[in-house]
Amino acid sequence: MSEKPKLAMYWASACGGCEISTLNIGEHILAVDAIFDLAFFPCIADFKVKDVEGYEDGFIDVCLFNGAIRNSENEEMAKLLRRKSKVLVAFGSCAYEGCIPALSNLTSKQATLNTVYLDNPSIDNPDGVLPQPITEVPEGELEIPFFYNTVRSLDQVVDVDYYLPGCPPEPHQIWAVLQVVVAGLLEGAPLPPPGSIVGAGSMAVCEECDMQKDVKTVAQFYRPYDIIPDTNICLLEQGIMCMGPATVSGCGALCPQVGMGCRGCYGPLPGIEDQGARMVAAIGSIVDVDGKPGDDEKELAQKVEAAINTIVDPAGTFYRFSMAHSLLHRTRVNTHQ
Ligand code: SF4
Repeated sequence: MSEKPKLAMYWASACGGCEISTLNIGEHILAVDAIFDLAFFPCIADFKVKDVEGYEDGFIDVCLFNGAIRNSENEEMAKLLRRKSKVLVAFGSCAYEGCIPALSNLTSKQATLNTVYLDNPSIDNPDGVLPQPITEVPEGELEIPFFYNTVRSLDQVVDVDYYLPGCPPEPHQIWAVLQVVVAGLLEGAPLPPPGSIVGAGSMAVCEECDMQKDVKTVAQFYRPYDIIPDTNICLLEQGIMCMGPATVSGCGALCPQVGMGCRGCYGPLPGIEDQGARMVAAIGSIVDVDGKPGDDEKELAQKVEAAINTIVDPAGTFYRFSMAHSLLHRTRVNTHQ
């Protein structure tokens, strides 16, 4: 390899969108190629784990690690790449907060395996075979990663230098972060303090969303297919769930502007530990069942409950991306494995 800084990108428990978003930085990818040597990037080049094991510790200048820690292989790779990298970036929502894989923290490992391998109309598995960590075959022992009961974020396994949120991170944010890192590596420019969230704004998505906000109250929530929203008026005020008030800016409010509520993928606002709790507070401030002074308290409570019950899957909605990193972390079922 040349003397150029070394770049790695690894894909743990994730969908591959982070890699696609990285390649979506367009012509800047040529600059990345000019500036860096690839040291490990299994999605686009043929590297083996033994290549990484052979590097000296700290050999990789920047490792973009995407994906949650779902199994023993994810954890081993996180520890290996931490050792071999000067700067480790939790890249994308799965590495930062657990994201969609961590929704399985709402159930147990066994229930997840049942759904995927047994109780599923698209599966032909009459013998009820489940994956086993070790299987004896005539040729010897076959080993696959051990499937954990609980999904963790990257920083729940190793120290992380920076967090780049998003599902996936927006390409313009990826390029901005790479420029900062390159300026630090090549020109000695100051890098953000360790632990920083990079490639995101500092306010709520609502602040960068130009939808008109004026109704302020909601008595019922709808799924996106229930109604055709007015694309000029705040979706939340029309009863379409939108995580904008609880989510940090940086994406340009892309989803609300096409009539789809913000899903919350950029994670919580600065200083907010639990994105879901923040959203519950936001919902609490807009639900209005048209109560009047002197109304019967019990009846009012029933009306509020009826309004709240129109929110489908509150835990999965409010913690869709942040379950592993939330105060909740997981539900307390079958946590013995
Ligand atoms: Fe905020 Fe969503 Fe309303 Fe836009 S549509 S202002 S992001 S709640």
